[in-house]
Parts: sequence; structure tokens; C-alpha cells
Amino acid sequence: MYDFVVVGAGPAGSRFSRSASERGRDVLVLESGEVGRPLACSGHVSLDVWEFVPDDARPELFQNDVYGARFHLEGATGADRREAPDGYTFYKDQPVSNAIDRVGLDETLAECAADAGAEVRDGHTVTRVEEDSGGVRVTARGPDGTETFRGRMVVGADGPRSKVREAVGLPEPDELLHGVLGFDDAPDHRDHVDVHLTVPRFFAWRISGAIPIGPPDRTVGRRSLLVGDAAAQTKPFTGGGILYGMRAADVAAREVDPRQPATLDDYEQAWRAELRRDQRLGHLIRAGYSMPRPVQKAGLRAFSGEIGVHMDRPTSVFSKAQLRALLSWG
Ligand SMILES: Cc1cc2nc3c(=O)[nH]c(=O)nc-3n(C[C@H](O)[C@H](O)[C@H](O)COP(=O)(O)OP(=O)(O)OC[C@H]3O[C@@H](n4cnc5c(N)ncnc54)[C@H](O)[C@@H]3O)c2cc1C
Repeated sequence: MYDFVVVGAGPAGSRFSRSASERGRDVLVLESGEVGRPLACSGHVSLDVWEFVPDDARPELFQNDVYGARFHLEGATGADRREAPDGYTFYKDQPVSNAIDRVGLDETLAECAADAGAEVRDGHTVTRVEEDSGGVRVTARGPDGTETFRGRMVVGADGPRSKVREAVGLPEPDELLHGVLGFDDAPDHRDHVDVHLTVPRFFAWRISGAIPIGPPDRTVGRRSLLVGDAAAQTKPFTGGGILYGMRAADVAAREVDPRQPATLDDYEQAWRAELRRDQRLGHLIRAGYSMPRPVQKAGLRAFSGEIGVHMDRPTSVFSKAQLRALLSWG
């Protein structure tokens, strides 16, 4: 019997599997497809990501430094462009974030899990999960037919439309947004990201995926727990979930003893404590997206300029200069 049967080898599942294996747990990971594919992510992450991968993987995964963001209210060709050609710019003299190879990140994290001792099986789609007093039974369809695996606990790291969540009867996230990723072959040599509060029109090819916002009231069952997008451990103002999911995965590996189901409640409390302040502030920032244009303009004008922000910790969002601007604006 495995200590944990982990469903999904995305960032949250692989990180949990690595951390749990390093603590001596016996871990099986079941991934329905090929790790990292298909790509449905921009790969835009805070610099914290480098704490989660080996140093020698960095040159392969790194793509770009990003120093800030430029906000546009009327779209790239709208009236606002005439008013403020550069939009409202927030910047730092050091990189704020990086663009990375997201497929490579997932592959690297899964390799780290395997190196730590986890058994990683791709091509296995979990179709059924049952909890009982002695453990869990996880049924998967794989290349050799249907197999059932026994574990002490099951970890739902299977993304926004989590099968595990549904099978064990845990509630859904508050919202499931539709995220669309577009690719443009026009050269772009700038070191900022452009944020359009009205989505501009463009075409190329697109990939879409679900973005869960607002964690469900409960993320643990009798012998089950959710991590990552399955638990909506995401930033409410961007939908980004790579780093929050991995932070919560580490909390899970630390708190949950597979032989002690009562420790599931420790995880429930600990991951919320870890992310609560940043998620709350993230909701407030998101509320700004729906404010009337004049209020948005005044706010962006007041705050634009040099920032002290850490991308994954909006509680760090206000530099001293911005706080002064906020006070004088208020
Ligand atoms: C368009 C778009 C752009 C994004 N851009 C960013 C970004 O720039 N930065 C950022 O931080 N976040 C971004 N995100 C969010 C980010 O992709 C997710 O938060 C992150 O992937 C969540 O990781 P996870 O491990 O929880 O889930 P996932 O990465 O979704 O991994 C879940 C895994 O479970 C597997 N699985 C699902 N069901 C089963 C099953 N029944 N059996 C076995 N395996 C199963 C899937 O194949 C998948 O590999 C973006 C999302 C979208 C949609």
C-alpha cells in the first residue's frame, strides 16, 4: 500500500510528491497525459520559482527577465493610447519576474519527484476514487488496461476540474474563469508585460484553460486532500497558481501524516494561513478591474512609477512612495 496516491503531475502534484518522498513517504503519481503537455500557461512567474528547481535546470528553463507592467485601459489601439502612449507603467530596476519554459518546468519538477523516490506513471487517467476507513482505492485507465491502486491517502493535484474533488464530494471553487493564451509572432524586445483591462483583438492560435478563483470551503476529506488548482490555490488578480500551488504542496507534505487522518485538518488550516493575506489582498486588487474608468485612471496615475512589489505577494505591493501617493490621493 502506498502512503499517498497523487493524481496529477503538474507543479503542485510533483512538488508534493518530491517533498513527501524526501520525508520518507511511499508515493505513487498518476498522470493522465504526458507531463507538461499540452501547454496551457503563459509561464510568467515570480523569481521564487528558482527555489523549487535544481540550479543546473535554470539555464534551460529561463526565457526572459520582466521588470514591470504597463496597464492599458482602452486596448492597444483605443483612445487611451492617444492619451497616454505608454499606458500606466509600474517598474522596478531589478527583474520582478521571469518568463520560463512551462513544459520544461513540469518535466523538471516531475524528475525531481522521481529522483526523490516517487513512482511517476504517465498515461494513467484516474477514473474512480473511493475512500474507506482503511485507506483509498484509486482506479486508473492506463496503457495496460484498468488498474486499481491502494493508498493510505489520495492527493487531488489534478487541476481546476479535479476528478478527485468530485469523487470524494468536496466543494468546487467559487469561480471557474476561462483563460485564453494567444501567440503572436511579432518581435517584442521590451522587458515589460502589457496588461489590457479590456482585452484587445488579435488572432493567431489559442489555447484555453480553466482558472479557478476562490478556494472551496473545504479541501480535505476522510482520506483525501486537494492541492494546487484543484483547491483554487491561485492569485485572484491574475489566476497564476504555479507558486501558490507549490507552496501549499510543501505545507501538505509537512503537515499530513498518511497514518493519521486527523492531520488533514492541520493542512487545511496551515495552507490557508500561508496564503490568506495574499489571497485577500489579491481579491481587492481584482475588484479594481471592475471599477469605473475614471476611478481606474486616477488609481493607476497615483500608483504608477517605481514599485516595491513581489509578484506573488501582493502584500508587498506598495512601496513607500506609493503609500505617500495613496495618502495624498485619498
Ligand atoms: C491561459 C492560462 C495562462 C496561465 N498563465 C499562468 C502564468 O503565467 N503564471 C502562473 O503562475 N500561472 C498561470 N496559469 C495558471 C497555472 O497554469 C495553474 O495555476 C497551474 O498549472 C496549476 O498547477 P496544478 O499542478 O495545480 O495543476 P495543473 O498544472 O493543471 O496539473 C494538473 C495535472 O493533472 C492531470 N490530470 C487531470 N485529471 C487527471 C486524471 N483524472 N487522472 C490523472 N491525471 C489527471 C493533468 O493532465 C495535469 O497534468 C495560467 C492558466 C491558464 C489557463
